[in-house]
Amino acid sequence: MTINIRIFETGNIRVRPSQMTQPPGNVLLRRFRFLTDRKFTEPIPIFAFLIEHPEGNFMFDLGETPRCVQPGYYDWWQVGHHCVSMNIKPNQGLGEQLKTIGIDPKNDIKAVIISHLHSDHAGGLPDVYGKPEIYTSEAHWNAFKSPFYATLEGANPKAWPEDFQPRFLKPDGPAIGPWTKSYPITSDGKIVAVDTPGHVPGHLSVIIFDEDITFLLVGDAAYSLDLLDKELIDGINTEPLVALESQRKIKEFCRGRDVVVLPSHEYDSVRRLEAKEVYQPK
Ligand SMILES: [Zn+2]
Repeated sequence: MTINIRIFETGNIRVRPSQMTQPPGNVLLRRFRFLTDRKFTEPIPIFAFLIEHPEGNFMFDLGETPRCVQPGYYDWWQVGHHCVSMNIKPNQGLGEQLKTIGIDPKNDIKAVIISHLHSDHAGGLPDVYGKPEIYTSEAHWNAFKSPFYATLEGANPKAWPEDFQPRFLKPDGPAIGPWTKSYPITSDGKIVAVDTPGHVPGHLSVIIFDEDITFLLVGDAAYSLDLLDKELIDGINTEPLVALESQRKIKEFCRGRDVVVLPSHEYDSVRRLEAKEVYQPK
C-alpha cells in the first residue's frame, strides 16, 4: 500500500519582504528592518499536511485557525502580527476541512508532528486535541515552553489547549543523508522526522519514503524552492547561520535521491505534489 499526502490550505498571508528573507547578520538589526518595513509580499499560503499511511493518519503541522481574526486572539503587544495581512475564511480551519473529507480530527488521527509552534503552524491545535499524539522536538519545546518567550517569538500559547504538553520524538532512528540521527514516526521507517533548526530552535522536517519517490516536508526551513536554491534564509530568525546550514543539508539530501520538496508557504507545493516533481538543487 502506498502512502498518500494531502495538502490543506488554512488561509493565506501577506508578510513583509524582510520577513521572507534577509542576509545573515545581527539578529536585532534584522528585526529592526522587519519592524520598519512597510511593504508586503504577494499572498502566500499556510499549509497543513495529512499523511495517510497503513499505520494511521499523520498530520504535519496544523495551519492557522479562522479564530485568529477575532479581536483579542492575539495580544496587542504581539508585534509580529501587526506586520502581516491575514486572510482566512471561516471554513478554512483544519478541523472543518478534515471533517469534510470524513476524518474526525479528534479521533481519526494517530499523531501530529509539529515542525514548530509558530501560530500559523499550531493554530489548529484545539481542533485535534484529544486522541491524537502531538509531537515536537524536545529542543523546540525547551525553547518555547515559556509562554512569554513563545509569544514574543510568534507563537500564541494562550490559544493552546489548557494543559497542552507535547510528547517528544525520540532521536533513535538511523542516520539519513546529511542527518546523523532521525526520529522514526512509523514502525516501518517510512515516515521520519529530521532536525532542520534555525528558523526556530528545534524545527523539524518530515521525510516520507514512498515506493519509488521521497517527499520532504520542510515546514519553514525554506519558504520556497527558489529561496532554497539561492540559500536565502528567513529574515527574522534568531540563528541565521544555523538556518543556512539546515538549508544546505536539505539540498545535500536532495542531491542523493529523487525528492519532492514541499515548503509550507508556497502555492507550487500543491502542483509539485500532484506532479511528483523532483527538486533539482542548484
Ligand atoms: Zn515559522
